[in-house]
Amino acid sequence: MTDRVVNFSPGPAVLPLEVLTQARDDLLALPGIGISPLEISHRSSWFDGVLAETEANLRRLLSLPDNYRVLFMQGGARLQFSLIPLNLLRGRTQPADYLVTGTWSQMAVPEARKEGQVRVVYDGQGAQFSRLPRPDEYFVGSDAAYAYYTSNETIQGVQFLSEPVAGDVPLICDASSDFLCRPLPMEKYALVYACAQKNLGPAGVTIVILRDDLLGRCADGLHTVLSYKQCAKEKSLLNTPPVFAVYIVLLVTRWLLDRVGGLAAMEALNRQKANLLYTLIDQSQGFYQGHAEPGSRSLMNVTFRLPDEATQTAFLAGARERGLAELKGHRSVGGIRASIYNAMPLEGVWALADYLREFQVYSRR
Ligand code: PMP
Repeated sequence: MTDRVVNFSPGPAVLPLEVLTQARDDLLALPGIGISPLEISHRSSWFDGVLAETEANLRRLLSLPDNYRVLFMQGGARLQFSLIPLNLLRGRTQPADYLVTGTWSQMAVPEARKEGQVRVVYDGQGAQFSRLPRPDEYFVGSDAAYAYYTSNETIQGVQFLSEPVAGDVPLICDASSDFLCRPLPMEKYALVYACAQKNLGPAGVTIVILRDDLLGRCADGLHTVLSYKQCAKEKSLLNTPPVFAVYIVLLVTRWLLDRVGGLAAMEALNRQKANLLYTLIDQSQGFYQGHAEPGSRSLMNVTFRLPDEATQTAFLAGARERGLAELKGHRSVGGIRASIYNAMPLEGVWALADYLREFQVYSRR
């Protein structure tokens, strides 16, 4: 294990060591079956069990009401940018309302426009997506087919820690980079989706949780694999699912339940980790400048800048020497981004915090 670095990648991202160890132990042959999880059929009773337990674990973690379906889909989060309007906007005269709070919600808009009318009810680009809107800065029309938002903007590091106001309009959330980081009041949502490669497992599977009544609203005549209705009808076995990725998601949900102790405990740990870094940023007298405004800061992606490019380059090089990896910010924002998802251990954040303190002292000499 000594050659593992502290991986602050925004995704695919760090996984719990317990999960990796279990996967390694099972990789050549699943106990009692003798086949690798990379080789086994998606029609096997083993995989039926994997799907059933993963769904049951997600239901338990989220206290999911019975009238919600859990789907395991492919195509990443970006396919959902298209599937949502294909299923829920196509052929309708109603518009869909989008809150644009960062790169990912912005990218969802043109896909939706291919299927119907879209109203951008908030656009944070003018403020470099450094903050979320106050409730009086946007208005979701009661005539909207749905209201769409991104709970955590992975690139800018801004996160909604409570739901936007959408009245009775079905609320849809891209939770790709903060799913399961805290308990979610699922009854407020019509649909929540998340690609796996940040908080859930490896790339390849996307979890879609949707309320039953939404299936009734889905457009008819869609291509089979693009239809939520068909995917729900076939219980996510319409075609070959990414078996191994789903199996890792199962192990992550077990870890959350058995090792972490559920989502409230996970949130407490996530807050502790994020507070450590934000406190240092705030106490650095402007040496570290946070990108997100304090009220909008993400628990998952901590974005900040150093005084100039040369200092930033030195910071990244020094970090890498200490085994603190993948800290470079997204090219559109620049600076540094520390992604500290669920599986980032507290010790990893301590190591980064120590480095932040020392680097500032060293640079000021
Ligand atoms: N939405 C959010 C919030 C994301 O962070 C990402 C990936 N970084 C995506 C969507 C796109 O995910 P994918 O690459 O699985 O399509």
